[in-house]
Amino acid sequence: TGIVHLENVSKDYILGEQKVQALKDITLDIASGAFLAIAGPSGSGKSTLLNLIGCIDTPTAGKVLINGQDISGRTPDDLSGLRARTIGFVFQTFNLFPVLSAEENVEYPLLQFRELKTAERRIRVAEYLDIVGLSRFARHRPNQLSGGQRQRVAIARALATHPKIVLADEPTANLDHATGEGILELMKNINDKFETTFIFSTHDSRVMAIADNVIHIQDGQIVQREIRKEKSMHV
Ligand code: ADP
Ligand code: ADP
Repeated sequence: TGIVHLENVSKDYILGEQKVQALKDITLDIASGAFLAIAGPSGSGKSTLLNLIGCIDTPTAGKVLINGQDISGRTPDDLSGLRARTIGFVFQTFNLFPVLSAEENVEYPLLQFRELKTAERRIRVAEYLDIVGLSRFARHRPNQLSGGQRQRVAIARALATHPKIVLADEPTANLDHATGEGILELMKNINDKFETTFIFSTHDSRVMAIADNVIHIQDGQIVQREIRKEKSMHV
């Protein structure tokens, strides 16, 4: 199976007396190195799906395998360990620490890897600020950066831990169109260079055009699979 494997996955949320079926019987296999868009209108289940792939939540029914590991029945500690070693996150609101500089933001998740010495960590941070084209802005705080630059910091932070999978929830939603396209091109370049798997959600049809494959979801179900690069998706 691929780096992400979902088999007959459902996710319900209980709200008082009501049950919301956010995902219904999703089966999906994503190969390592994929550049995949999850498309669908607001409320269709995109974030729920990313949360399952990101080991932030567990399914109500069905099987989720991330990098070959079954996530059901695991303790939160166990899941966060798996997450730290496997997954990088990019959010639509960037989620940077406002009081930390760009380089401190990128360094932050690396602090949990005890095997990285201080000097190695610094080198890693500089390497990723360079990859996203922000070396000159290392000492800037988020409020001294443009939206596109903030999202680049977030991407550097997500990549610096060498994740197998980067999950991006509407990464272009708060950017103008040209800046959003630049961010996607940056992610695509990294995908080509390092074979990092990228999975991003979007409801912007213009954003979907750059993806290798697009999965369309509606009301918690996959309604269409656009496979433009055969090797990166089965099923
Ligand atoms: P999208 O990301 O496509 O906007 P979501 O995955 O956020 O969709 O939501 C799918 C459905 O699940 C929606 O009906 C939403 O209201 C519901 N939902 C999402 N998160 C929760 C939650 N924590 N509690 C209850 N219902 C939720
Ligand atoms: P490590 O645990 O040392 O990062 P990996 O197996 O993750 O080992 O990667 C081996 C090498 O491949 C890394 O040292 C790095 O040079 C390169 N590499 C892996 N993933 C990435 C990535 N996402 N970005 C840049 N380089 C990467």
